[in-house]
Amino acid sequence: MSEAKLIDGRAAADSLRSQVAAEVAELRARFGVTPGLAVVLVGEDPASQVYVRSKGEQSLAAGMHSVTHRLSADTPQDVLIGLVRSLNADPAIHGILVQMPLPQGLDEKAVVEAIDPDKDVDGLHVVNAGRLSQGLASLSPCTPLGCMILLRQTLGDDLSGLRAVVVGRSILVGRPVAQLLLQADCTVTIAHSRTRDLAAVCREADILVAAVGRPRMIPGDWIRPGATVIDVGINRVPFDDPAKAAEGRTKLVGDVDFKSARQVAGAITPVPNGVGPMTVACLLANTVTAARRIHGI
Ligand code: NDP
Repeated sequence: MSEAKLIDGRAAADSLRSQVAAEVAELRARFGVTPGLAVVLVGEDPASQVYVRSKGEQSLAAGMHSVTHRLSADTPQDVLIGLVRSLNADPAIHGILVQMPLPQGLDEKAVVEAIDPDKDVDGLHVVNAGRLSQGLASLSPCTPLGCMILLRQTLGDDLSGLRAVVVGRSILVGRPVAQLLLQADCTVTIAHSRTRDLAAVCREADILVAAVGRPRMIPGDWIRPGATVIDVGINRVPFDDPAKAAEGRTKLVGDVDFKSARQVAGAITPVPNGVGPMTVACLLANTVTAARRIHGI
C-alpha cells in the first residue's frame, strides 16, 4: 500500500485565518462590529506566555480588537473572577479566554463558569458542553473544531455512517470531538485508559482520533488500512539520535507512531503541523461566531 496522504494543518489554518479576516472586514464594513477577543494570563508559565502572545498577534492580524490582561501568579480568585465579570459586561469584547493551566490555588472550574457562555470562545463552559451534547448551536472547544475541519477537508462534508474511534475522554478534547463526530452522524466509540483491547477497538475505525498524551502509543498495526488518523497528541521526547539526545535536545511527537501508521493509514496528520496550528485559528473563528450571535447577525 502507498504511504498515507499528509493532512497539512498549517495550510488549513492559514486558509481559515484568511477566511476569518475576510469575515471580520465584512462585519466592520456592513455592521460596524469589530469582533473583540480578551485573553487573560495569570502567572509566568513560559508555554502559556507563548500561546497568549500568539493568540494576541493572530487576532490583531485578522483585524480584530484584541486585549491581553496579564496578572501575577498570586492574584486572588475574587480579583480574577472580577476581571472576567468586567469582560462579560464589556461590549467591545465578544470572546474571553482564560489561559490554562492556572497557578495553584486558583479554581479553574469556577473561573470558566464565571465566563458568559455567549463569550466562552474556548467552549469549556458547562452550558456550551451541554448545548453541544444536545446537538444545539454552541461555542465548541477549538481543538475539536480544528479536527473536524481537517476531517472534512480530507473526507468531504459527508461523514455520515463512518466508524469513528476517539481515544481519550477529556473535557478539552476527547469528549467534545466525540460529540462533534456524533453530530456529523458518525458511529462513535470513546476509548480511555480502562478500555479493554484498545488495539481491536482502534482497528474498527474509519476515523481514528488520538487525544491521549502518550508518545507514539498507537502503532501502525492498530490502524485499519485506509483509515483517516487525526493525531491530537503533543508530546516532547528526546531525539532518537543519541548524540542529540545527550545534548538534552527534544522534539515533538504525537500519540500515534507516525512512521508505522503512515504505511497503513489513508491520511494522517503529522506532529507538529497537523492539528496544532488549527487551534488558534479556530479560536479566531469562534470569536467571529460569538460576535455575530451577540449582535444577532
Ligand atoms: P488528558 O490528560 O486530559 O486526557 C487524556 C485521556 O487519555 C484521558 O481520557 C485518559 O483516560 C486517556 N488515556 C490515558 N492513558 C491511556 C491509555 N493507556 N489508553 C487509553 N487511553 C488513555 O489530555 P488532553 O485531552 O488534554 O490532551 C491529550 C493530548 O492532546 C496531549 O498530548 C495534549 O498535549 C494534546 N493537546 C493538543 C492540542 C492541540 O492544539 N493540538 C490541544 C489540547 C491538547 P482516562 O480518562 O481513563 O484517564
